[in-house]
Amino acid sequence: MNYESELKVAVEAVRKACGLSIGVQSSLVSEETVKKKDDSPVTVADFGAQAVICHELIKSFPDIPIVAEEDSSELRSNEGNALTVRVLEYAARVFPGMDEEGLVRAIDAGDYGGGKGGRFWTLDPIDGTKGFLRGGQYAVALALIEDGRVVLGVLGCPNLPLDLRNPDANRGCILTAVRGGGSSMRPLEHNTPKLIAVSDISDTRHAPFCESVESAHSSHGDSARIAELLGVTAPPIRIDSQCKYAVLARGDASIYLRLPTKKDYVEKIWDHAAGSIIVEEAGGIVTDAYGKELDFSHGRTLSGNKGIVGTNGMIHDAVLNAVSEVLGPDAKD
Ligand code: AMP
Ligand code: MG
Repeated sequence: MNYESELKVAVEAVRKACGLSIGVQSSLVSEETVKKKDDSPVTVADFGAQAVICHELIKSFPDIPIVAEEDSSELRSNEGNALTVRVLEYAARVFPGMDEEGLVRAIDAGDYGGGKGGRFWTLDPIDGTKGFLRGGQYAVALALIEDGRVVLGVLGCPNLPLDLRNPDANRGCILTAVRGGGSSMRPLEHNTPKLIAVSDISDTRHAPFCESVESAHSSHGDSARIAELLGVTAPPIRIDSQCKYAVLARGDASIYLRLPTKKDYVEKIWDHAAGSIIVEEAGGIVTDAYGKELDFSHGRTLSGNKGIVGTNGMIHDAVLNAVSEVLGPDAKD
C-alpha cells in the first residue's frame, strides 16, 4: 500500500507542532507547568501540539481514530485560567479562528483506545517533557498503526543536531519511515528527505549505546553491566525522548537500551511506535528486553512487552544475550 497522502499530512502536522513547541520552549515560564497524576511535567506545548496535530489529522482523515497521550481534563477543570489561554494563543497562531471549544475537541480526539484491528494514529505530542523543560532534546512522535503493526512513523526532533559530531551547526530535523520504503531525514524547514541507515558496526566493543537521561525510566546500573559484558568502552549517549531512536537509525549510536526500573511499568504505544519503525526501516531491529517483537495490538500500552532493546541488527543477538545475563529470565515466563 502507498501511504503518500498519510505521510504528507503527518509530516506537515508534525512540522506545525514543532513550530509551536519551539515557540513555547523559548518562552518557558514555570506557571505553564502543571503536575499530571504520574508526576511528569506537562506544558502548554504538550496540549498545543496535540491540538494542532489532531486538528490537522481529523481534517484530512476524519475516519481514522487517534490514540494520543493527553486529554483536556486539566484544561477543562481550570477553564479560562492562564494555561488554557496560553494553549489557545499558541494553537490559534497555527489555526487562526480556533476557539476554546475547538481546542478541547481537537485534544480529546486523541481518546481512542487502540487495539487489534483497523487503522489508527498514535501520537506523543511532546515526548521527553523533562528534556523539553531543561532546554534539551524532545520529540513530536506520530505513527500510523494497521492491524496491530506500525506502518508509518514521523519523528520531529526540533533540537537534534543534523550531525551529532557537529552539535553547533544546524539543529532540527524530521525523520520518517513507511513500511517497506526505508527511513529518511530532512531538516525541519525543508522537504528534502535523504535516506538514512543504521551503523555497520559488527563488533560490540565499538558499538556506542544510548539510553534515557532519567535513571527512573531506564536502569543505568543494568546498562553499565551490559556494556561491560559487551566490551563497550565509550560512555553512554544519554538523550531524552525518541531522539534515541533517531540517533540509532542514523548510525550515531548502535544500541538503544531501555531497561525496566519497576516491575509493573508498562510502556505506552506512543513512546515507541514512530521510533521503532524508523529504526527498522533504517535496517535495525527493535524488540523488547527479552527479544520479543513489540506488539501494538494491546490498546494504549505495550502490555505484552517489557523494556526495549534496539540495535543496528548485526549485533542484536549479542546484545540480547548480555541483557539476559544481567536481567535474568522474564518473570512472566
Ligand atoms: P525518555 O525520555 O526516553 O526517558 O522517556 C520519556 C518517556 O518515559 C515518557 O514519555 C514516559 O511516558 C515514559 N516513562 C515514564 N515513567 C517511566 C518508567 N518508570 N519507565 C519507563 N518509561 C517511563
Ligand atoms: Mg512520551
